Amino acid sequence: MPANLGNATALVCRECGHSVELGPFYACEQCFGPLEVAYDLSKVTREAIEAGPHNIWRYKDLLPVPPNVADIPNTEPGFTRLVKADQLASALGLQNLWVKDDSGNPTHSFKDRVVGVALAAARELGFKVLACPSTGNLANAVAAAAARAGIRSAVFVPSDLEQQKIITTAVYDGTFVTVDGNYDDVNRLASELAGEQEDWAFVNVNVRPFYAEGSKTLGYEIAEQLGWRLPDQIVVPIASGSQITKIDKAFQELIKLGLVEDRPYKVYGAQAEGCSPVSAAFKAGHDVVRPVKPATIAKSLAIGNPADGPYVLDVARRTGGAIEDVTDAEVVEGIRLLARTEGIFAETAGGVTVGVLKKLIDTGQLDPSLETVIINSGEGLKTLDAVADVAKPSANIAPTLEAFRATGLV
Ligand SMILES: *Cc1c(COP(=O)(O)O)cnc(C)c1O
Ligand SMILES: [Zn+2]
Repeated sequence: MPANLGNATALVCRECGHSVELGPFYACEQCFGPLEVAYDLSKVTREAIEAGPHNIWRYKDLLPVPPNVADIPNTEPGFTRLVKADQLASALGLQNLWVKDDSGNPTHSFKDRVVGVALAAARELGFKVLACPSTGNLANAVAAAAARAGIRSAVFVPSDLEQQKIITTAVYDGTFVTVDGNYDDVNRLASELAGEQEDWAFVNVNVRPFYAEGSKTLGYEIAEQLGWRLPDQIVVPIASGSQITKIDKAFQELIKLGLVEDRPYKVYGAQAEGCSPVSAAFKAGHDVVRPVKPATIAKSLAIGNPADGPYVLDVARRTGGAIEDVTDAEVVEGIRLLARTEGIFAETAGGVTVGVLKKLIDTGQLDPSLETVIINSGEGLKTLDAVADVAKPSANIAPTLEAFRATGLV
């Protein structure tokens, strides 16, 4: 029986346009370019979307998943809050700012979206095990989603990962291996394994075309939550570059379907200085991204050889956006600023995005009068060490009024 993946029709090469049937393929047989899901979207309507559940499956008609996907046990990610961030806006001199807070997902990062779609497609394609190489958040999401689906998971991470992300993966009790190497080493190992283990779906390797489509739901939700319109500009963190390119794909689809007004928007990318290969290529005017060895506290973004790097450059340049990077000190400052102004505790990736937003304004690259959305892609409880030295109680006292008055905090 052919796979039933809803309105998805084929896999098409992003480089040469060669098309193959839907299946467990991820590289073009003609040119080795990455494959991308193509659709027949003629039947998608706003009414059908709005009648759907309050999770990513309301957009199932725009995803490579079976029509009954919402009825199969899953972690139900998505439809996270879009927060009007007036106090952060005024701290930064912006007029109109929103935070899309994806720390509200089931395992507290945006990765639950991509894993949800990858798992639904992988089951339909006959895979038995859900696997991944990960910088941390993907490990959480894969282990939890497989547990909920009642299948085996196999997760590989660098051994120097944050302790919080180790524990929050191990608790789901799948196969979980720490590897003495950086993410790019772990990724290479996973690619080798994917070639051997035929019924293992490595979500971001051999089912990557399906996985990547999950990030489109961030773009759909932002447009729907704004009342079916696009923001003027958006700032998105970059690891492999999948999320940022798929938000752009989502906006393009919504325009093409007439679900939002066709008007220009700018896409900005955010990296940490200690792992900024895409930002460096953007600033140098290059079309190719030269790999780097990551050294930053923003470990969830620490991919030195980002698979979608060149496509990120295309998106930023085509839309008139930019790509910037910030130091680890600015990442910590970004975390604190978002917490202090909006009551949102972001992980280091969120600190990168807030820090880059500030830098883009300070350097005149982003117009502060335009409506702006930033992505908070993960939860601060997973990267506590980043702020452990600076987030401290105001005082420690004996349980008496005198002791409290003596602190001068009254
Ligand atoms: C994975 C991740 C990203 C971005 O991932 P891409 O590979 O660029 O899609 C952003 N933020 C967090 C917290 C992540 O875990
Ligand atoms: Zn090709």
